[in-house]
Amino acid sequence: MKAVFLDRDGVLTRKSDYFSSFNQLNLEDNISEAIKILNKNFLVIVITNQPVVARGLCTEKDIENIHNRINDFISKKGAHIDAFYFCPHHPEMHEDVPEHAKKYRISCNCRKPGTELLEKAKKDFKIDLENSFFVGDSTVDIQTAKNIGCTSLLVRTGYGGEDKKFPAEPDYTCDNILEAAKLIDQINDLSAVILVGGRGERMRPLTDNLPKPMLPIRGKPILEHQINLLRKYGISNIALCGHYLFQKIIDYFGDGGGFGVKIIYLDEPEPLGTGGALKNAEHAIKSKNFILMNGDIATNVRLSKVIQFHIEKHALATLVLRVSDHPRDSDVIEIDENCMVSNFVGKGQEETRTANTGIFVINKDFLEFIPKGVSNLEKDVISKMIGQPIFGFISDDYFKDIGTIERFNKAQEESPL
Ligand SMILES: [Mg+2]
Ligand SMILES: [Zn+2]
Repeated sequence: MKAVFLDRDGVLTRKSDYFSSFNQLNLEDNISEAIKILNKNFLVIVITNQPVVARGLCTEKDIENIHNRINDFISKKGAHIDAFYFCPHHPEMHEDVPEHAKKYRISCNCRKPGTELLEKAKKDFKIDLENSFFVGDSTVDIQTAKNIGCTSLLVRTGYGGEDKKFPAEPDYTCDNILEAAKLIDQINDLSAVILVGGRGERMRPLTDNLPKPMLPIRGKPILEHQINLLRKYGISNIALCGHYLFQKIIDYFGDGGGFGVKIIYLDEPEPLGTGGALKNAEHAIKSKNFILMNGDIATNVRLSKVIQFHIEKHALATLVLRVSDHPRDSDVIEIDENCMVSNFVGKGQEETRTANTGIFVINKDFLEFIPKGVSNLEKDVISKMIGQPIFGFISDDYFKDIGTIERFNKAQEESPL
């Protein structure tokens, strides 16, 4: 099971003060609508610190009553929260703590960013935490998500991340719970296609017995790093398009279960180029949008930023670009002030330019523009689509395409993977 964990105060409720009864709760607008969207594909579980109990202002039973009332309220609109978990503790003892609350004044691991409540939810519902999301309004929530390995979303309600308790940076940022639910719905529908078919001529003899995406960086194949990156951003349906020594890849990854993802394999009858390989995969792409990557790129790109950009722009395709000071064998691509691709320059440039990284977010409708048969995605397809909603997203994250032995060696030394 996949879950969306929600912080309570500042996410579902408007103030992040203490509440000791339901009538004091100021529920955010649209929480029913948001939770209803999440109910379709996820367990929805609230994880909340309630030191109000340790203050002696209310009992654990009162908190449970509040939570039942929240569920009653949203159920009128057809939404439901599957479970509430709360920490009643506080680590500090103060003189004015009433006698009956003193037992709650302890250091615990259920108070976020501790992970005990999430561990318990995981056990109770058999949750796959790595494919789950955590939505919160404070850096404590984001840190909790990091501690347990969920994808994190910060909402700009409540603290809006301004509590400054932890340096944790969220994977995604949204205006409110409804926007977060819509985004999670879109991310949940994302898949990925990785092109792993190239022969790697310039990498001989390293690629005589091993396809290029299987070359190791820091002890793991480049492709495994890519799969881990996709999973980190909540993407678990992956198609690999291959040809050369494809069986070695299939033997290593199998159905993907050992890597927390689902992998299907699409064999090209003959090398079709990047455009042809993608066209060949068309029947297998079920999602509205998908990530496309070349299988020879070592990168830690923050995919969330690109995905959010792509969705907000309603792009047919978004190309991840980097600023390169010698883009000799990358395609130089120019964008206008709205980040729309305005000119395809191609390879062979010497001066500093924005160049393609080989990572894309693509709307399925884009596939209609690719002819059947052999083609190069950039040179033969995108270069002819100027004026269409194709956008460039400039990233300063790490990218190294492992096209030559020299670059491969460099990646070994400098890669942050
Ligand atoms: Mg909060
Ligand atoms: Zn606790």
